[in-house]
Parts: sequence; structure tokens; C-alpha cells
Amino acid sequence: MPALTADSGSVKRSFRLEAFGAPLVAASEELPVPTGRGVLLRTLVCGVCHSDLHIADGHFDLGNGNRIDLTRSVALPRILGHEIVGEVVALGPAAEGVALGDRRVVFPWIGCGTCGDCRAGREHLCGAPRALGVNCDGGYADHVLVDDPRYLFDFAPLTDGQACTLACSGLTAFSALRKAVPFPAGAQALVIGAGGVGLSAVRMAHALLGTAPIVADPDRTKWALAMEAGAAATIDPREPGIARELVKGTGGGVAAAFDFVGSGDSFAFGFSALAKGGRMVVVGLMGGATQFSPALLPMKSATICGSYVGSLTEMAELMQLARSGVLPALPVTARRLDEVNDALDDLRAARIHGRVVVTP
Ligand SMILES: [Zn+2]
Ligand SMILES: [Zn+2]
Repeated sequence: MPALTADSGSVKRSFRLEAFGAPLVAASEELPVPTGRGVLLRTLVCGVCHSDLHIADGHFDLGNGNRIDLTRSVALPRILGHEIVGEVVALGPAAEGVALGDRRVVFPWIGCGTCGDCRAGREHLCGAPRALGVNCDGGYADHVLVDDPRYLFDFAPLTDGQACTLACSGLTAFSALRKAVPFPAGAQALVIGAGGVGLSAVRMAHALLGTAPIVADPDRTKWALAMEAGAAATIDPREPGIARELVKGTGGGVAAAFDFVGSGDSFAFGFSALAKGGRMVVVGLMGGATQFSPALLPMKSATICGSYVGSLTEMAELMQLARSGVLPALPVTARRLDEVNDALDDLRAARIHGRVVVTP
């Protein structure tokens, strides 16, 4: 699909979800005109994310026959794609703080703006979300309309591809790690799951926690990537006795365990590796269940919490950190927007290393 130029008329071209479980379909519509504080971006890249597969399927499969139905929260047709980087091409009359030609990464986890969560700065937890690429149209299009310039972040000197991943996997990893800050000096951290988000957390751990985490993943083919990302060591959580060894080897356990898998097994493993006063942060949505003795919480004086994407404030903090150049880069492959269905198929078949971004 050719890029829109100034004289290509007022058409917005996209690939959108018209039926759950079916491929995305090429579509065109009238180019939106920003009103109020709105900003129209010409899409430069949009990251292809695992959650797009779940949205396209219409459900999150939690394992053990449990599903989260997405068909009621996602109205069709919908343009997916929430890892958006674009150039400002039109501004509403009240939009301030950005200028035509500015390149920006978008915070997509937008809320209703009026509920208690939104007013408290927790838009990403809003019960009536307007997240771009989920509840509102996103970045698998040559243009994206954003409600307010406050959702736009400068990302120089990062590349477009690096910047777009910060809005999703980067922010998710950052928000999870931040829940263990201040991190005790000299203590150890455990990252469970060496997938995309887990590896982002490994990359950020030095900057946020001041330590190189131990990475647990039964898939040994991921161990080299984890070490490259900055892990202190890699372990197989399915090895008998490994949790006890880990507690011994770390002088009483880890101060924080970040579970990017979210299964019964990964939770049990992470909790058993915690030191006294330790913190367990669950991010993954694999599902399943585990037996858990509540008495262990006071005995360990442990804290368990969940983490879901991240707030607008955390996005600002993350951008500052990333732009300072302290985070190692993620491998990024670019494809054309009209290949987005192929990219999603490759992601489903686990044929993708690093991140794929599509470009209109
Ligand atoms: Zn994502
Ligand atoms: Zn809200």
C-alpha cells in the first residue's frame, strides 16, 4: 500500500478486524479531522503484539478451559495495533504542546477520563477503557487520531521501531519492576519467563533495581537471549529441588520475583524463591491454579501484587529512562502494513524473534 501524501486526498487506509477469528481486512474511510485537543498522526510504524492475536480471536485463553471473553469489550469493525509511532499531520484548535512534523510515540492505554481511576492517574485500569487498537481504532492504518497531546511522547534519539515497543511490552515490564522499587541494595531479583516482556524486564533491571536478575525458563533455547539481555544466570524451574537451591544460593531467597508467565506453576515457583519481606509481582496471564497456604504470607512477611501495562506517569518515566540510552535495544524487523496478516500468523506460529513492526 503506498503511503499517503499531502495530495492523496482525505482517505484513511487501514487493515481492520471485521469478524473475530478471521484475518484483518483492507478498508478505507474518510480521514478524520481532529477537533478540540485532538491530534492526527501519520503512522510511521506500529508494533505487532501478541495481544493482537487474542483480540482478533475474541478471547484470552487462560488455560484449563478458562477464557476471558473480549467480544463484548471490542466492537467491530476495529483497527487493531496499539504500539504506535507517528508524525503529527493535523491538530485540533485546542491541541497544545506538539507541532506539525513532530514524531511521537503514543500512550495507548487511554481511559474514560472521568471515573475515579482516571482522575487518580490510573487510566490504564479504567473500567470503560478507550484504549487505542483495542476499544478505539489503532495503528494498523496510515493515520491514527489521538484525543489529547498528553498521550504523545518525544522519543529522540531512539528509532521508530524501538520507541513503539515501549508503549506496550516496555511499559508493562517497567511498571512491574517499579513495584519493587526501592529495591534493597545487594539483593537479588528473579524474572520468570524469557518471552518478549520478560526480556524487556531483564534489560531494564539494572537501571531500575541495580541488579542483574536470575531468569527462570524451562525453554533452554531462550537462555542465550536472556544472557544477552543482561541476566546474571539462567535456571530451569522444572528441575527438581531448584527452588531450594535458589534460596540457598541467594542467601535466603530473592527480594522480588516477577512472574511474566502467570501459571499456577510459575506462581508457586516464584513465591517459594522469595526471601522474607519479598515481593511477588504477577504480570503473565497463562492461567491455571495452584495450592497456596495463606499463612506463608505473614511468615514471610511477603507481598503479592499484580501489574497490568502501566500508567501515563510511568510512561513518562520510562521515556526519560529509554531516551537517556541506558536500555539495550530490542531486535526489530520491519514489514509492510499490507503484510500484517502474515506477521500475525508468524507471531502465532512463534516464528518471530524480537519485535515485528509494520509500516504503511
Ligand atoms: Zn502489546
Ligand atoms: Zn475511566
